[in-house]
Amino acid sequence: MKKIKEVPFFNYPYLFESREEDFVEIFKDVGRRGAYILQKDLTKFESDLAKYCNAKYAIGVANGTDAIWLALEAAGIGEGDEVILSSHTYIATAGAVAFVKAKPIPVECKEDWMIDPLAVEAAITSKTKAILPTQLNGRCCDMDALRAIAKKHDLIIIEDAAQALGAKYKGEFAGTMGLAGTISFYPAKTLGSFGDAGAILTNDKELYDKMRFARDHGRNDEGEFIMWGYNSRMDNFQAAILNYKLAYYDDEVKRRREIASIYHKELSELHQIKLPQNPNANVDYFDVYQNYEIMAEKREELREFLKENGIGTLIQWGGQAVHSLSKLGFHNISLPFTENFFKSCFMIPLNTSLTNEDVLYVCEKIKEFYK
Ligand SMILES: *Cc1c(COP(=O)(O)O)cnc(C)c1O
Repeated sequence: MKKIKEVPFFNYPYLFESREEDFVEIFKDVGRRGAYILQKDLTKFESDLAKYCNAKYAIGVANGTDAIWLALEAAGIGEGDEVILSSHTYIATAGAVAFVKAKPIPVECKEDWMIDPLAVEAAITSKTKAILPTQLNGRCCDMDALRAIAKKHDLIIIEDAAQALGAKYKGEFAGTMGLAGTISFYPAKTLGSFGDAGAILTNDKELYDKMRFARDHGRNDEGEFIMWGYNSRMDNFQAAILNYKLAYYDDEVKRRREIASIYHKELSELHQIKLPQNPNANVDYFDVYQNYEIMAEKREELREFLKENGIGTLIQWGGQAVHSLSKLGFHNISLPFTENFFKSCFMIPLNTSLTNEDVLYVCEKIKEFYK
């Protein structure tokens, strides 16, 4: 059999192999210091991350999902409250709302697949307390519109920026445009750790204290237990790795944007597919391309053809929009735009392990399919 080129959707071993020697040194250093929990590496990562995002505070937590519910809880969201989110988001966004006993209200996305501000406003009731926009695929939502709605209706905004570290909207960083914003360092995220890790950003000192005490059993700086809390600390080893990787994160973002440009250049002529925004299309948006999600005619046949040619693809959230999850209590919600989107969406590989040759090969095969 002819050996075909392999372009996996995501290359997990590359994460380690890319700078293996340095990672091993970090592991040795942390191990030899016996520095596992709440040590200087975490403190440093928190301050560097805050600085990077131009936020006052950052808190390292166990994962990006905990980050969301810790922020919701500290903001006082709870039983009887409604929180509006996009139906095109990970279950974690809605799950965090359910975890604090509030009700997630999924709404439509708009033509750039980000939450639709008009749908948000239409979903507001007397119980609505917060908007939880997902900064999806490394792009920010229309934050001016969302902030205007929040202001008008006295709502708070908490951003699920799990996919958008370093993305900007009119110069402001994802995760810093509401009361709090949350980041995930899941291995396949733009800044991936070697396991689970997450962070919360905020400019609010009171919220900051509540969240950082909550993630460590409700313990304050004097070691006194002043509230009920949890154990959701970011492992110090992950923090040490992330510290190291944050230093060259801008280069990684640059590379992601380069790949997106190649896809745009090569594929934008095809009328059978719809691409995300070109990196330089709109100066208001600085996208970091966590994913390259497209809409395609004959999606299943195209994915099969790409698979036969060694190219990995993925449908986000296994193709399940939040409002379609009837087993979780979402019934009789009709979101036609989102439903239509989910019939043809999928993601092609975009990560820093790819060479230009890999990217061009993916483009070539997509063009070949539609020929
Ligand atoms: C990855 C992700 C999360 C959850 O992050 P974890 O670190 O895996 O808990 C939440 N929301 C969105 C949009 C994500 O992509």
